[in-house]
Amino acid sequence: MYANLYTLFAGRFPTDMSKIAIETGDGRRYTYGELDQYSARLAGHFRRLGLMPGERVAVSVENSPQALFAYLGCLRAGLIYLPLNTAYQRSELTYFIKDAEPRAIVCRPEAAAIAREIAPAALVETLDARGEGSLVEASRGLPADFSPVGRGPDDSTAILYTSGTTGKPKGVMLSTRNLAVNAMALTDAWGMNGDDVLLHMLPLFHAHGLFVAAHCALLSASKMWLTARFEAGAALKLLPCSTVFMGVPTHYGRLLADTGLNRELCRDMRLFTCGSAPLPVETFHRFEQRTGNFILERYGMTETLITTSNPLNGPRIAGSVGPALPGVSVRVVDEHGRPAPTGTNGQVQVKGDNVFHGYWKQPNKIARDFTGDGFFNTGDIGRLEHSGYLFLVGRAKDLIISGGYNVYPKELELVIDRIEGVAESAVFGVPHPDFGEAVVAAVVRSGRAECPAAPEIIERLKGEVANYKVPKRVVFIDALPRNAMGKVQKGLLSRHYDALFGGT
Ligand code: AMP
Repeated sequence: MYANLYTLFAGRFPTDMSKIAIETGDGRRYTYGELDQYSARLAGHFRRLGLMPGERVAVSVENSPQALFAYLGCLRAGLIYLPLNTAYQRSELTYFIKDAEPRAIVCRPEAAAIAREIAPAALVETLDARGEGSLVEASRGLPADFSPVGRGPDDSTAILYTSGTTGKPKGVMLSTRNLAVNAMALTDAWGMNGDDVLLHMLPLFHAHGLFVAAHCALLSASKMWLTARFEAGAALKLLPCSTVFMGVPTHYGRLLADTGLNRELCRDMRLFTCGSAPLPVETFHRFEQRTGNFILERYGMTETLITTSNPLNGPRIAGSVGPALPGVSVRVVDEHGRPAPTGTNGQVQVKGDNVFHGYWKQPNKIARDFTGDGFFNTGDIGRLEHSGYLFLVGRAKDLIISGGYNVYPKELELVIDRIEGVAESAVFGVPHPDFGEAVVAAVVRSGRAECPAAPEIIERLKGEVANYKVPKRVVFIDALPRNAMGKVQKGLLSRHYDALFGGT
Protein backbone atom coordinates (compact mmCIF):
# COMPACT_ATOMS: atom_id res chain seq x y z
CA MET A 1 0.00 0.00 0.00
CA TYR A 2 2.86 2.39 0.77
CA ALA A 3 5.08 1.48 -2.17
CA ASN A 4 3.60 4.12 -4.44
CA LEU A 5 0.91 6.66 -3.58
CA TYR A 6 -0.51 6.55 -7.07
CA THR A 7 -1.34 2.87 -6.60
CA LEU A 8 -3.36 3.79 -3.53
CA PHE A 9 -5.34 6.40 -5.50
CA ALA A 10 -5.78 4.16 -8.53
CA GLY A 11 -7.14 1.41 -6.28
CA ARG A 12 -9.97 3.76 -5.32
CA PHE A 13 -10.69 5.24 -8.74
CA PRO A 14 -14.33 4.86 -9.84
CA THR A 15 -15.33 1.73 -11.73
CA ASP A 16 -16.65 4.00 -14.42
CA MET A 17 -13.50 5.81 -15.52
CA SER A 18 -15.56 8.19 -17.65
CA LYS A 19 -16.58 9.94 -14.43
CA ILE A 20 -15.38 13.55 -14.33
CA ALA A 21 -12.37 13.95 -12.05
CA ILE A 22 -11.62 17.61 -12.67
CA GLU A 23 -13.57 20.49 -14.12
CA THR A 24 -12.06 23.95 -14.36
CA GLY A 25 -13.87 27.20 -13.72
CA ASP A 26 -13.68 27.89 -17.48
CA GLY A 27 -15.36 24.64 -18.49
CA ARG A 28 -12.54 22.18 -19.28
CA ARG A 29 -13.34 18.69 -18.05
CA TYR A 30 -11.15 15.63 -17.52
CA THR A 31 -12.37 12.16 -16.68
CA TYR A 32 -10.63 9.77 -14.31
CA GLY A 33 -9.58 7.83 -17.40
CA GLU A 34 -7.90 10.92 -18.85
CA LEU A 35 -6.26 11.74 -15.54
CA ASP A 36 -4.81 8.21 -15.54
CA GLN A 37 -3.61 8.44 -19.14
CA TYR A 38 -2.17 11.96 -18.98
CA SER A 39 -0.29 11.22 -15.78
CA ALA A 40 1.08 8.01 -17.37
CA ARG A 41 2.37 10.02 -20.33
CA LEU A 42 4.04 12.54 -18.05
CA ALA A 43 5.63 9.74 -16.00
CA GLY A 44 6.84 8.23 -19.29
CA HIS A 45 8.24 11.57 -20.34
CA PHE A 46 10.17 11.98 -17.09
CA ARG A 47 11.58 8.50 -17.55
CA ARG A 48 12.53 9.22 -21.16
CA LEU A 49 14.41 12.31 -19.97
CA GLY A 50 16.50 9.96 -17.87
CA LEU A 51 15.11 10.91 -14.47
CA MET A 52 15.68 8.15 -11.93
CA PRO A 53 13.48 7.29 -8.93
CA GLY A 54 14.42 9.44 -5.94
CA GLU A 55 15.52 12.38 -8.09
CA ARG A 56 13.76 15.69 -7.55
CA VAL A 57 11.42 17.57 -9.87
CA ALA A 58 10.83 21.19 -8.85
CA VAL A 59 7.44 22.48 -9.96
CA SER A 60 6.48 26.14 -9.81
CA VAL A 61 3.27 26.56 -11.77
CA GLU A 62 -0.23 27.91 -11.38
CA ASN A 63 -3.20 25.62 -10.68
CA SER A 64 -4.36 23.65 -13.70
CA PRO A 65 -5.44 20.04 -14.27
CA GLN A 66 -2.10 19.50 -15.98
CA ALA A 67 -0.28 20.68 -12.85
CA LEU A 68 -2.06 17.90 -10.97
CA PHE A 69 -1.25 15.40 -13.74
CA ALA A 70 2.42 16.43 -13.47
CA TYR A 71 2.31 15.68 -9.73
CA LEU A 72 0.72 12.30 -10.38
CA GLY A 73 3.28 11.63 -13.13
CA CYS A 74 6.09 12.26 -10.63
CA LEU A 75 4.44 9.89 -8.15
CA ARG A 76 4.14 7.17 -10.77
CA ALA A 77 7.75 7.55 -11.85
CA GLY A 78 8.98 7.43 -8.23
CA LEU A 79 10.32 10.98 -8.42
CA ILE A 80 10.38 13.37 -5.49
CA TYR A 81 7.91 16.18 -6.06
CA LEU A 82 9.07 19.63 -4.99
CA PRO A 83 6.33 22.24 -5.33
CA LEU A 84 7.41 25.89 -5.16
CA ASN A 85 5.23 28.94 -4.64
CA THR A 86 4.85 30.88 -7.90
CA ALA A 87 5.31 34.12 -5.95
CA TYR A 88 8.93 33.32 -5.09
CA GLN A 89 11.42 35.85 -6.37
CA ARG A 90 14.71 35.07 -8.04
CA SER A 91 16.78 35.00 -4.83
CA GLU A 92 14.30 32.65 -3.16
CA LEU A 93 14.18 30.34 -6.18
CA THR A 94 17.95 30.31 -6.29
CA TYR A 95 18.08 29.18 -2.68
CA PHE A 96 15.53 26.37 -3.13
CA ILE A 97 16.98 25.10 -6.38
CA LYS A 98 20.57 25.15 -5.19
CA ASP A 99 19.49 23.39 -1.98
CA ALA A 100 17.21 20.73 -3.49
CA GLU A 101 19.27 20.13 -6.66
CA PRO A 102 16.34 19.04 -8.83
CA ARG A 103 17.11 17.13 -12.04
CA ALA A 104 14.15 18.81 -13.73
CA ILE A 105 12.29 22.08 -13.23
CA VAL A 106 8.74 22.62 -14.44
CA CYS A 107 7.90 26.32 -14.40
CA ARG A 108 5.78 29.03 -15.98
CA PRO A 109 7.08 30.04 -19.42
CA GLU A 110 8.09 33.47 -18.13
CA ALA A 111 10.30 31.87 -15.46
CA ALA A 112 12.11 29.45 -17.81
CA ALA A 113 15.06 31.74 -18.55
CA ILE A 114 15.67 32.34 -14.84
CA ALA A 115 15.38 28.60 -14.10
CA ARG A 116 17.97 27.82 -16.79
CA GLU A 117 20.33 30.44 -15.39
CA ILE A 118 19.97 29.21 -11.82
CA ALA A 119 20.31 25.53 -12.70
CA PRO A 120 22.15 25.14 -16.01
CA ALA A 121 22.38 21.37 -15.56
CA ALA A 122 18.65 20.85 -14.91
CA LEU A 123 16.09 19.99 -17.57
CA VAL A 124 13.61 22.85 -17.81
CA GLU A 125 10.03 22.35 -18.98
CA THR A 126 7.22 24.88 -19.09
CA LEU A 127 3.56 24.74 -18.09
CA ASP A 128 1.30 27.79 -18.19
CA ALA A 129 -1.91 28.65 -16.38
CA ARG A 130 -3.95 27.07 -19.22
CA GLY A 131 -2.06 23.82 -18.72
CA GLU A 132 -0.06 24.22 -21.93
CA GLY A 133 3.67 24.24 -22.48
CA SER A 134 6.67 22.14 -23.42
CA LEU A 135 5.94 19.58 -20.69
CA VAL A 136 2.58 18.60 -22.15
CA GLU A 137 3.79 18.90 -25.76
CA ALA A 138 6.68 16.55 -25.14
CA SER A 139 4.51 13.91 -23.50
CA ARG A 140 2.01 13.73 -26.37
CA GLY A 141 1.93 10.39 -28.09
CA LEU A 142 3.68 8.54 -25.27
CA PRO A 143 2.05 5.33 -23.96
CA ALA A 144 -1.11 5.93 -21.94
CA ASP A 145 -0.13 3.48 -19.25
CA PHE A 146 2.79 3.38 -16.85
CA SER A 147 3.31 0.98 -13.97
CA PRO A 148 3.98 2.94 -10.79
CA VAL A 149 7.56 2.55 -9.56
CA GLY A 150 7.59 0.99 -6.10
CA ARG A 151 9.76 2.69 -3.49
CA GLY A 152 10.31 2.21 0.22
CA PRO A 153 7.36 3.34 2.35
CA ASP A 154 9.62 5.76 4.19
CA ASP A 155 11.45 7.10 1.17
CA SER A 156 10.65 10.71 0.38
CA THR A 157 7.79 11.31 -2.02
CA ALA A 158 7.69 15.06 -1.72
CA ILE A 159 9.78 17.86 -0.29
CA LEU A 160 8.03 21.05 0.75
CA TYR A 161 9.90 24.06 2.01
CA THR A 162 8.41 25.62 5.14
CA SER A 163 7.61 29.28 5.04
CA GLY A 164 10.56 29.83 7.39
CA THR A 165 9.80 33.18 8.98
CA THR A 166 12.97 32.74 11.01
CA GLY A 167 16.21 31.39 9.59
CA LYS A 168 16.50 29.67 6.24
CA PRO A 169 13.54 27.67 4.92
CA LYS A 170 13.89 23.95 5.48
CA GLY A 171 12.87 21.22 3.07
CA VAL A 172 10.37 18.94 4.82
CA MET A 173 10.71 15.39 3.46
CA LEU A 174 7.37 13.59 3.37
CA SER A 175 7.16 9.87 2.69
CA THR A 176 4.52 7.78 0.96
CA ARG A 177 3.50 6.44 4.36
CA ASN A 178 3.06 9.97 5.78
CA LEU A 179 0.92 11.06 2.87
CA ALA A 180 -1.08 7.86 2.56
CA VAL A 181 -2.08 7.51 6.22
CA ASN A 182 -3.04 11.15 6.45
CA ALA A 183 -5.11 11.17 3.27
CA MET A 184 -6.95 8.04 4.44
CA ALA A 185 -7.54 9.47 7.92
CA LEU A 186 -8.99 12.66 6.43
CA THR A 187 -11.26 11.00 3.88
CA ASP A 188 -12.65 8.80 6.67
CA ALA A 189 -12.96 11.61 9.21
CA TRP A 190 -14.70 13.92 6.77
CA GLY A 191 -16.84 11.26 5.13
CA MET A 192 -15.49 12.01 1.65
CA ASN A 193 -17.19 9.81 -0.94
CA GLY A 194 -17.81 9.43 -4.65
CA ASP A 195 -20.90 11.64 -4.53
CA ASP A 196 -18.88 14.58 -3.29
CA VAL A 197 -17.96 17.53 -5.45
CA LEU A 198 -15.02 19.41 -3.99
CA LEU A 199 -14.66 23.10 -4.68
CA HIS A 200 -10.85 23.37 -4.84
CA MET A 201 -9.56 26.94 -4.90
CA LEU A 202 -6.32 26.43 -2.95
CA PRO A 203 -2.84 26.56 -4.48
CA LEU A 204 -1.54 23.12 -5.45
CA PHE A 205 1.96 24.18 -4.40
CA HIS A 206 0.92 24.14 -0.72
CA ALA A 207 0.29 21.11 1.51
CA HIS A 208 -3.28 22.27 2.09
CA GLY A 209 -4.15 22.37 -1.61
CA LEU A 210 -2.24 19.24 -2.61
CA PHE A 211 -2.18 16.85 0.33
CA VAL A 212 -5.46 17.81 1.96
CA ALA A 213 -7.81 18.93 -0.80
CA ALA A 214 -6.55 17.09 -3.90
CA HIS A 215 -5.69 13.89 -2.02
CA CYS A 216 -9.13 13.74 -0.39
CA ALA A 217 -10.83 14.12 -3.76
CA LEU A 218 -8.65 11.50 -5.48
CA LEU A 219 -8.92 9.00 -2.67
CA SER A 220 -12.70 9.23 -2.59
CA ALA A 221 -13.06 9.32 -6.40
CA SER A 222 -14.92 12.63 -6.10
CA LYS A 223 -15.19 15.27 -8.73
CA MET A 224 -13.30 18.49 -8.10
CA TRP A 225 -13.76 21.95 -9.43
CA LEU A 226 -10.24 23.28 -9.80
CA THR A 227 -9.86 27.04 -10.13
CA ALA A 228 -6.75 29.13 -10.68
CA ARG A 229 -7.14 30.79 -7.29
CA PHE A 230 -9.70 31.75 -4.70
CA GLU A 231 -12.10 34.40 -5.82
CA ALA A 232 -15.32 35.04 -3.86
CA GLY A 233 -17.47 35.69 -6.96
CA ALA A 234 -16.36 32.44 -8.60
CA ALA A 235 -16.89 30.55 -5.35
CA LEU A 236 -20.48 31.79 -5.10
CA LYS A 237 -21.14 30.58 -8.65
CA LEU A 238 -19.71 27.11 -7.96
CA LEU A 239 -21.06 26.50 -4.44
CA PRO A 240 -24.54 25.49 -5.67
CA CYS A 241 -22.98 22.62 -7.61
CA SER A 242 -20.51 21.52 -4.92
CA THR A 243 -20.74 19.60 -1.65
CA VAL A 244 -17.39 20.31 0.05
CA PHE A 245 -15.24 23.43 0.27
CA MET A 246 -11.79 23.61 1.85
CA GLY A 247 -10.45 27.03 2.63
CA VAL A 248 -8.35 29.28 4.81
CA PRO A 249 -9.81 31.91 7.16
CA THR A 250 -9.29 34.70 4.62
CA HIS A 251 -11.56 32.88 2.19
CA TYR A 252 -14.37 32.75 4.72
CA GLY A 253 -13.90 36.44 5.50
CA ARG A 254 -14.17 37.25 1.79
CA LEU A 255 -17.20 35.03 1.27
CA LEU A 256 -18.93 36.79 4.16
CA ALA A 257 -18.02 40.19 2.73
CA ASP A 258 -19.95 39.27 -0.42
CA THR A 259 -23.63 40.13 -0.03
CA GLY A 260 -24.49 37.27 -2.39
CA LEU A 261 -23.61 34.56 0.15
CA ASN A 262 -26.76 32.91 1.49
CA ARG A 263 -28.29 29.58 2.53
CA GLU A 264 -29.79 28.91 -0.86
CA LEU A 265 -26.36 28.89 -2.58
CA CYS A 266 -25.10 26.42 0.02
CA ARG A 267 -28.09 24.09 -0.08
CA ASP A 268 -26.07 21.09 -1.35
CA MET A 269 -22.97 21.88 0.68
CA ARG A 270 -22.35 19.32 3.39
CA LEU A 271 -18.92 20.41 4.59
CA PHE A 272 -16.81 23.56 4.87
CA THR A 273 -13.35 22.96 6.33
CA CYS A 274 -10.84 25.56 7.40
CA GLY A 275 -7.20 25.57 8.42
CA SER A 276 -3.66 26.86 7.85
CA ALA A 277 -4.33 29.82 10.15
CA PRO A 278 -6.66 30.52 13.08
CA LEU A 279 -10.31 30.97 12.17
CA PRO A 280 -11.73 33.97 14.07
CA VAL A 281 -14.58 32.95 16.36
CA GLU A 282 -16.70 35.75 14.92
CA THR A 283 -16.23 34.37 11.40
CA PHE A 284 -17.34 30.92 12.56
CA HIS A 285 -20.56 32.37 14.02
CA ARG A 286 -21.31 34.77 11.18
CA PHE A 287 -20.84 31.98 8.66
CA GLU A 288 -23.26 29.76 10.53
CA GLN A 289 -25.83 32.56 10.67
CA ARG A 290 -25.53 33.31 6.96
CA THR A 291 -25.33 29.79 5.56
CA GLY A 292 -26.49 27.40 8.30
CA ASN A 293 -23.09 25.63 8.16
CA PHE A 294 -20.68 25.19 11.05
CA ILE A 295 -17.18 25.50 9.62
CA LEU A 296 -15.08 22.45 10.53
CA GLU A 297 -11.72 23.77 11.69
CA ARG A 298 -8.70 21.50 11.65
CA TYR A 299 -5.02 21.91 12.40
CA GLY A 300 -1.85 20.78 10.76
CA MET A 301 1.50 21.82 9.48
CA THR A 302 3.76 20.82 6.62
CA GLU A 303 5.87 18.62 8.91
CA THR A 304 2.94 16.72 10.40
CA LEU A 305 0.20 17.02 7.80
CA ILE A 306 -3.20 17.21 9.51
CA THR A 307 -3.20 16.27 13.18
CA THR A 308 -6.49 17.39 14.73
CA SER A 309 -9.94 18.03 13.35
CA ASN A 310 -13.30 19.06 14.68
CA PRO A 311 -15.70 16.17 14.10
CA LEU A 312 -17.96 15.61 11.14
CA ASN A 313 -20.65 14.35 13.49
CA GLY A 314 -20.40 15.98 16.89
CA PRO A 315 -19.81 19.45 18.23
CA ARG A 316 -17.58 21.75 16.20
CA ILE A 317 -16.30 24.23 18.72
CA ALA A 318 -15.46 27.76 17.64
CA GLY A 319 -11.87 28.62 18.53
CA SER A 320 -10.86 24.94 18.83
CA VAL A 321 -9.10 22.81 16.22
CA GLY A 322 -10.75 19.69 17.61
CA PRO A 323 -9.39 16.41 18.97
CA ALA A 324 -6.52 14.36 17.50
CA LEU A 325 -7.34 12.38 14.36
CA PRO A 326 -7.35 8.58 14.72
CA GLY A 327 -3.76 7.31 14.56
CA VAL A 328 -2.32 10.63 15.77
CA SER A 329 -1.15 11.35 19.33
CA VAL A 330 -1.25 14.96 20.44
CA ARG A 331 -0.01 16.18 23.81
CA VAL A 332 0.76 19.50 25.48
CA VAL A 333 3.89 19.83 27.62
CA ASP A 334 5.33 22.51 29.89
CA GLU A 335 8.74 24.15 29.48
CA HIS A 336 10.42 21.12 31.10
CA GLY A 337 8.75 18.72 28.70
CA ARG A 338 6.35 17.38 31.34
CA PRO A 339 2.67 16.90 30.45
CA ALA A 340 0.88 20.19 31.11
CA PRO A 341 -2.26 19.93 33.27
CA THR A 342 -5.51 19.84 31.30
CA GLY A 343 -6.55 23.36 30.37
CA THR A 344 -3.03 24.79 30.76
CA ASN A 345 -1.10 26.29 27.87
CA GLY A 346 2.08 24.58 26.73
CA GLN A 347 3.97 23.31 23.69
CA VAL A 348 1.95 21.13 21.34
CA GLN A 349 3.72 17.88 20.41
CA VAL A 350 2.60 15.31 17.87
CA LYS A 351 3.42 11.67 17.06
CA GLY A 352 2.15 9.31 14.39
CA ASP A 353 2.78 7.88 10.94
CA ASN A 354 1.70 11.24 9.56
CA VAL A 355 4.81 12.96 10.96
CA PHE A 356 7.78 13.59 8.63
CA HIS A 357 11.15 12.30 9.61
CA GLY A 358 13.67 14.65 8.27
CA TYR A 359 14.65 17.96 6.80
CA TRP A 360 16.41 17.74 3.47
CA LYS A 361 20.20 17.86 3.97
CA GLN A 362 19.83 18.80 7.64
CA PRO A 363 20.12 15.52 9.56
CA ASN A 364 21.15 17.31 12.76
CA LYS A 365 18.18 19.61 12.83
CA ILE A 366 15.79 16.74 13.35
CA ALA A 367 17.21 15.68 16.72
CA ARG A 368 16.36 19.06 18.20
CA ASP A 369 12.77 18.92 16.98
CA PHE A 370 11.87 15.46 18.30
CA THR A 371 11.65 14.34 21.92
CA GLY A 372 13.32 11.15 23.18
CA ASP A 373 10.00 9.33 22.93
CA GLY A 374 9.41 10.31 19.32
CA PHE A 375 7.09 13.33 19.59
CA PHE A 376 7.61 16.25 17.21
CA ASN A 377 7.69 19.70 18.74
CA THR A 378 5.31 21.71 16.59
CA GLY A 379 6.33 25.10 17.93
CA ASP A 380 2.66 25.86 18.49
CA ILE A 381 1.32 26.76 21.91
CA GLY A 382 -2.04 25.40 22.97
CA ARG A 383 -4.08 23.64 25.62
CA LEU A 384 -6.06 20.43 25.69
CA GLU A 385 -9.43 20.56 27.42
CA HIS A 386 -11.12 17.61 29.19
CA SER A 387 -13.09 16.92 26.03
CA GLY A 388 -9.78 16.18 24.25
CA TYR A 389 -10.28 19.26 22.06
CA LEU A 390 -7.16 21.28 21.33
CA PHE A 391 -7.19 25.09 21.51
CA LEU A 392 -4.24 26.88 19.93
CA VAL A 393 -3.07 30.15 21.39
CA GLY A 394 -0.20 30.97 19.05
CA ARG A 395 3.26 30.08 17.85
CA ALA A 396 6.03 29.71 20.42
CA LYS A 397 8.04 32.21 18.43
CA ASP A 398 5.16 34.72 18.55
CA LEU A 399 5.16 34.54 22.32
CA ILE A 400 5.82 38.00 23.73
CA ILE A 401 7.86 38.28 26.90
CA SER A 402 7.13 41.65 28.42
CA GLY A 403 8.74 42.53 31.73
CA GLY A 404 9.43 38.84 32.25
CA TYR A 405 5.79 37.84 31.76
CA ASN A 406 4.58 35.58 28.97
CA VAL A 407 1.91 37.12 26.79
CA TYR A 408 0.07 34.92 24.29
CA PRO A 409 -1.11 37.12 21.42
CA LYS A 410 -4.16 34.98 20.62
CA GLU A 411 -5.71 35.62 24.03
CA LEU A 412 -5.69 39.36 23.40
CA GLU A 413 -6.72 39.09 19.78
CA LEU A 414 -9.83 37.20 20.82
CA VAL A 415 -10.80 40.03 23.18
CA ILE A 416 -10.04 42.79 20.68
CA ASP A 417 -11.87 41.02 17.84
CA ARG A 418 -15.04 40.98 19.94
CA ILE A 419 -15.11 44.78 20.17
CA GLU A 420 -17.74 46.24 17.89
CA GLY A 421 -16.24 48.03 14.93
CA VAL A 422 -13.14 45.81 14.88
CA ALA A 423 -12.74 43.47 11.92
CA GLU A 424 -9.61 41.74 13.13
CA SER A 425 -6.39 42.31 14.98
CA ALA A 426 -2.86 41.05 15.38
CA VAL A 427 -0.90 41.33 18.59
CA PHE A 428 2.89 41.26 18.46
CA GLY A 429 5.97 42.34 20.39
CA VAL A 430 8.40 45.16 19.67
CA PRO A 431 11.61 46.09 21.49
CA HIS A 432 11.08 48.20 24.61
CA PRO A 433 13.89 49.78 26.66
CA ASP A 434 12.26 48.94 29.97
CA PHE A 435 10.17 45.80 29.44
CA GLY A 436 12.39 44.05 26.87
CA GLU A 437 9.38 43.68 24.66
CA ALA A 438 6.21 45.72 24.59
CA VAL A 439 2.84 44.40 23.50
CA VAL A 440 1.40 46.18 20.45
CA ALA A 441 -1.95 45.54 18.78
CA ALA A 442 -2.59 46.27 15.11
CA VAL A 443 -6.31 46.70 14.54
CA VAL A 444 -8.30 46.65 11.31
CA ARG A 445 -11.62 48.52 11.47
CA SER A 446 -14.63 46.64 10.14
CA GLY A 447 -16.39 49.67 8.69
CA ARG A 448 -19.73 48.15 9.77
CA ALA A 449 -19.87 49.98 13.10
CA GLU A 450 -17.87 52.79 14.60
CA CYS A 451 -14.59 51.52 15.97
CA PRO A 452 -13.45 52.86 19.34
CA ALA A 453 -10.23 54.90 19.41
CA ALA A 454 -6.97 53.41 20.69
CA PRO A 455 -7.29 54.62 24.33
CA GLU A 456 -10.79 53.12 24.58
CA ILE A 457 -9.59 49.77 23.22
CA ILE A 458 -6.83 49.80 25.81
CA GLU A 459 -9.36 50.63 28.56
CA ARG A 460 -11.58 47.79 27.40
CA LEU A 461 -8.67 45.34 27.60
CA LYS A 462 -7.77 46.52 31.10
CA GLY A 463 -11.13 45.28 32.27
CA GLU A 464 -10.56 41.83 30.79
CA VAL A 465 -6.89 40.83 31.06
CA ALA A 466 -4.02 41.26 33.51
CA ASN A 467 -2.28 44.59 33.22
CA TYR A 468 1.02 43.22 31.91
CA LYS A 469 -0.82 41.86 28.87
CA VAL A 470 -2.53 45.11 27.91
CA PRO A 471 -0.98 46.54 24.73
CA LYS A 472 1.18 49.58 25.29
CA ARG A 473 0.07 50.85 21.91
CA VAL A 474 -2.81 50.21 19.51
CA VAL A 475 -2.18 51.07 15.85
CA PHE A 476 -4.81 51.05 13.10
CA ILE A 477 -4.00 49.55 9.72
CA ASP A 478 -6.05 48.90 6.57
CA ALA A 479 -5.32 45.16 6.35
CA LEU A 480 -3.16 42.63 8.19
CA PRO A 481 -0.15 41.48 6.17
CA ARG A 482 -0.83 37.87 5.17
CA ASN A 483 0.97 35.22 3.16
CA ALA A 484 -0.66 33.12 0.43
CA MET A 485 -2.28 30.80 2.97
CA GLY A 486 -3.76 33.59 5.04
CA LYS A 487 -1.23 33.45 7.86
CA VAL A 488 -0.65 36.83 9.46
CA GLN A 489 2.99 37.77 9.04
CA LYS A 490 3.74 39.01 12.51
CA GLY A 491 7.44 39.28 11.75
CA LEU A 492 6.63 42.01 9.21
CA LEU A 493 4.52 43.89 11.76
CA SER A 494 7.22 43.63 14.45
CA ARG A 495 9.85 44.87 12.03
CA HIS A 496 7.66 47.71 10.78
CA TYR A 497 6.94 48.99 14.29
CA ASP A 498 10.24 48.10 15.94
CA ALA A 499 11.16 51.74 16.64
CA LEU A 500 7.84 52.54 18.31
CA PHE A 501 9.48 52.73 21.74
CA GLY A 502 12.91 53.87 20.56
CA GLY A 503 14.09 50.41 19.47
CA THR A 504 16.48 48.18 21.39
P1 AMP B 1 2.35 25.39 7.36
O1 AMP B 1 3.43 24.40 7.64
O2 AMP B 1 2.76 26.48 6.43
O3 AMP B 1 1.08 24.73 6.93
O4 AMP B 1 2.03 26.12 8.73
C1 AMP B 1 1.69 25.38 9.86
C2 AMP B 1 1.25 26.29 10.98
O5 AMP B 1 0.00 26.92 10.65
C3 AMP B 1 0.96 25.54 12.25
O6 AMP B 1 2.13 25.22 12.97
C4 AMP B 1 0.06 26.53 12.98
O7 AMP B 1 0.84 27.53 13.61
C5 AMP B 1 -0.71 27.16 11.83
N1 AMP B 1 -2.06 26.57 11.70
C6 AMP B 1 -2.48 25.61 10.88
N2 AMP B 1 -3.80 25.36 11.06
C7 AMP B 1 -4.21 26.18 12.04
C8 AMP B 1 -5.45 26.41 12.71
N3 AMP B 1 -6.56 25.77 12.36
N4 AMP B 1 -5.48 27.34 13.69
C9 AMP B 1 -4.36 28.01 14.04
N5 AMP B 1 -3.17 27.85 13.45
C10 AMP B 1 -3.09 26.96 12.47
